Amino acid sequence: MQGMEPTIRGTDRSLQLNVSQGSMGHPEMCQAPCVHMMKNGSCHFGLACGFCHFQHGKKKKLDKGQRTMMHEAGEGRRLAIIIPHVVEKLEKLGDQQALNLVRLLQEEVEKASPTRSGAWEKKLQQAQISGRLERMNISALMDLVTECLPEHVNQAYIALQRSRFPFPKLLPEGAVITFWL
Ligand SMILES: [Zn+2]
Ligand SMILES: [Zn+2]
Repeated sequence: MQGMEPTIRGTDRSLQLNVSQGSMGHPEMCQAPCVHMMKNGSCHFGLACGFCHFQHGKKKKLDKGQRTMMHEAGEGRRLAIIIPHVVEKLEKLGDQQALNLVRLLQEEVEKASPTRSGAWEKKLQQAQISGRLERMNISALMDLVTECLPEHVNQAYIALQRSRFPFPKLLPEGAVITFWL
């Protein structure tokens, strides 16, 4: 193991230039798109860049009012609002590791079991949060609940993200990527 730096070995030079740490899990679990990559088609941070180097639309997130509302909701209610959206997206990924995470997340929502409140639900509806959450990717959604989740669940998410890197479809024949974290 060569220190903590990620290393990449591959035959395709463009792949080496394009891939970044923030691309891990693309498109559902990557970080926000890299501005350097969008502007210039290259990024001097290379593999170490914390933003996604692949092409996709702007990362959707909550607006300020919606974020305040999520904060006011408290942890239990926030989990109950966000997790169903995460679960729906994880189920679409369909692999066993994603489904295991679904089970862990659902356990946390059950444990939190927030009291239902009609007034709250009305407030959420008015803020149109549900539609926004639907358009966010898994990583943006997880950002909203990481602090409410126990360590083993967050670790399970990170493991899933890593399992999606490298992205088999994008890899040229014979390329080897080693990712040290
Ligand atoms: Zn991405
Ligand atoms: Zn970058």
